[in-house]
Amino acid sequence: MTNEKLRQEQIDEEMINQGFQHLLDCYLASKHRKKVEIITKAFNFAKQAHKGVKRRSGEPYIMHPIAVAQIVCSEIGLGSTSICSALLHDVVEDTDYTVEDIENLFGPKIAQIVDGLTKISGGIFGDRASAQAENFKKLLLTMNDDIRVILIKIADRLHNMRTLGSMLPNKQYKIAGETLYIYAPLANRLGLNKIKTELEDLSFKYEHPQEYATIEAKLKETKEEREELFNEFTLPIRTKLDKMGIKYRIMARIKSPYSIWNKMQTKHIPFEEIYDILAVRIIFDPKELEEERAECFNIYVSISKIYKPHPDRLRDWVNHPKSNGYQALHVTLMSNKGQWIEVQIRSERMNDIAEQGFAAHWKYKEGGGSEDEGELEKWLRTIKEILDDPQPDAMDFLDTIKLNLFASEIFVFTPKGEIKTMPQNSTALDFAFSIHTFLGSHCIGAKVNHKLVPLSHKLQSGDQVEILTSKSQHVQPSWINFATTAKAKSKISAILKREQRGMQQAGEEILQNFFIKEGMEFTTENIQKLCTLHQMNSPEEFYAAIAMKTIPLGESDSNALKEKAASGGWKKLLNPFAFGSNKSNKDKDEEKKPIAKIDNKKIIKLTPEAIQKNFIIADCCKPIPGDDVLGYIDEHNRVIIHKRQCPLATKLKSSFGNRILAVEWETGKALDFPVNIYIKGIDTIGLLNKVTQIISEQMNVNIRKLFIETNDGIFEGHIQLYVHDVDDVKSITSKLRKIEEMKTVTRIEQFEDIP
Ligand code: MN
Repeated sequence: MTNEKLRQEQIDEEMINQGFQHLLDCYLASKHRKKVEIITKAFNFAKQAHKGVKRRSGEPYIMHPIAVAQIVCSEIGLGSTSICSALLHDVVEDTDYTVEDIENLFGPKIAQIVDGLTKISGGIFGDRASAQAENFKKLLLTMNDDIRVILIKIADRLHNMRTLGSMLPNKQYKIAGETLYIYAPLANRLGLNKIKTELEDLSFKYEHPQEYATIEAKLKETKEEREELFNEFTLPIRTKLDKMGIKYRIMARIKSPYSIWNKMQTKHIPFEEIYDILAVRIIFDPKELEEERAECFNIYVSISKIYKPHPDRLRDWVNHPKSNGYQALHVTLMSNKGQWIEVQIRSERMNDIAEQGFAAHWKYKEGGGSEDEGELEKWLRTIKEILDDPQPDAMDFLDTIKLNLFASEIFVFTPKGEIKTMPQNSTALDFAFSIHTFLGSHCIGAKVNHKLVPLSHKLQSGDQVEILTSKSQHVQPSWINFATTAKAKSKISAILKREQRGMQQAGEEILQNFFIKEGMEFTTENIQKLCTLHQMNSPEEFYAAIAMKTIPLGESDSNALKEKAASGGWKKLLNPFAFGSNKSNKDKDEEKKPIAKIDNKKIIKLTPEAIQKNFIIADCCKPIPGDDVLGYIDEHNRVIIHKRQCPLATKLKSSFGNRILAVEWETGKALDFPVNIYIKGIDTIGLLNKVTQIISEQMNVNIRKLFIETNDGIFEGHIQLYVHDVDDVKSITSKLRKIEEMKTVTRIEQFEDIP
């Protein structure tokens, strides 16, 4: 062995030992029982198993399991079983050792967790990367066995995100997209607030590096100003709390770059118009644990004597914890500078739960005082019910689960006064299904606060809901449109599918008899002929239509059957992703040639020739040069260009990660792209003139469509322009914003004629 190599090995050894020592120190400082021996054994075993293997960053592989165990210990607060499992989490997947080996050495519990982690792994970083939706389903299934599997998986993902820089760009988008789509909501659902925020910020940083940097810079610029406001605002609060003899700390909560960006995007406002970047957190040590709720309100009462509270903004998560366990009292107060500031009041215990979620819940279990343990189990049960209804489409499944991950909550009451937690925007139908499937499938209407409402009625917090049923009622296909919870949606589609399967069988039989009568063979080819004739997307759809008698079989069918094999054009319709609503556009795209060989490890350049020949610009998000984009290889081997934050692209990243390409614009000013701009402002004489003048003066830009409407002194309009790139858009929107009466100027995806 050369000297150089030997020295490197010594450096590595030193780094490994330091990493492990730090982990042990943190573990020993925690409240857990001190089972150092088994942790050391797991470390030595994993170290030896991964020996000689390096990560892409060049570090010895074992540094990754150590880092995951560190997160599990210090950031999630779990004990020795989880720490051991984290240290061993990649051993079965990446080395020759088996689950049995782990069981013999470390016992059944750790072996079971490692097994769960191996099953859901599927090689996210390898070329084995398969449909992530499938993995996610497995992930949720194992969750029921032991929630620690999923907590360690989240820690694993967090470390992979922290070290994402050394991955290939196409992998970065896939992993970042999947993290934002699945892992961040999941972390949120489990109450791991801090981790959720970090996952979101890291995803954002990799998908939109420039925008991330801009927001960070602006946060830095405004830091001093914010600190001053914080000090001034909290000074009288501190004085008051000191006088009351409360043990507390006050912290500034700064909105994360991702949430800021998200708000800018959804509200179409610049950074400068986001007023809730600063919030204030009061964390106190209650004199007695049983009194902590009352103390929250005492603090609220006393500080609302200093500052005027916002009448509509008191959020009592103390008496009604969120279903991820979050507890706190949120109030909004008017600062002396005339700015509303949110103040979050919580005890140390509530704060632990806010940051570490249910893992922290367990820590306080023996202490008593909390009876909200059931919420997690309730959620797990819902997930299990959804999983029990087999959903063939993985993408549908992801959507359904996500509905439940993202939703914030409202409280409604049963006629008996029982309180039920429902996701926001739930309808009366959702409520019926949340109580019982039978109630849901037979409901005909509801009474909300004693008034009769349709099933589609949206519920509000505090509503009292009574469901009206009828035995003769059946699940209707239209219900799927006004069910919003995962549970209701999956139940309805399962029932409908079951009914449809019955219809299809009946239809197939009718068709078979028809073929016999016509003396034709019941072959796939012959069935296809009739599908083409009736413009059906699939034989199944055709069968159902026959059974429902929407398609009567007759002479035209027998003629079609006897014709020579037609050019079976119906296959085209099977394309599951219909890109482009614009017909002419689509026809053009059909001509785009597939790329013979795609090297997805390279960043693909989007030159003008390439765009005209091989690439399709997605119609859903309409990216233009300068937007952060990625490519998706469709099943015809053509490349579709999406914005990185496009909802469809996000789904594709999570479900077909191995078809994602890193792409880069290189169009210069050679091509024109359509872009839509929305404007809104105060209507004055000559305004329209000013708008059109600015646009026509702008070089490089051609106006294509313009639609403006005024209503009670406010005008709203959509402009469609042809531009070269994002710079053109920026220059024109900033000029439009300079018009005094103009209040909103923003780029939007779809041109809409205002009705
Ligand atoms: Mn791992």
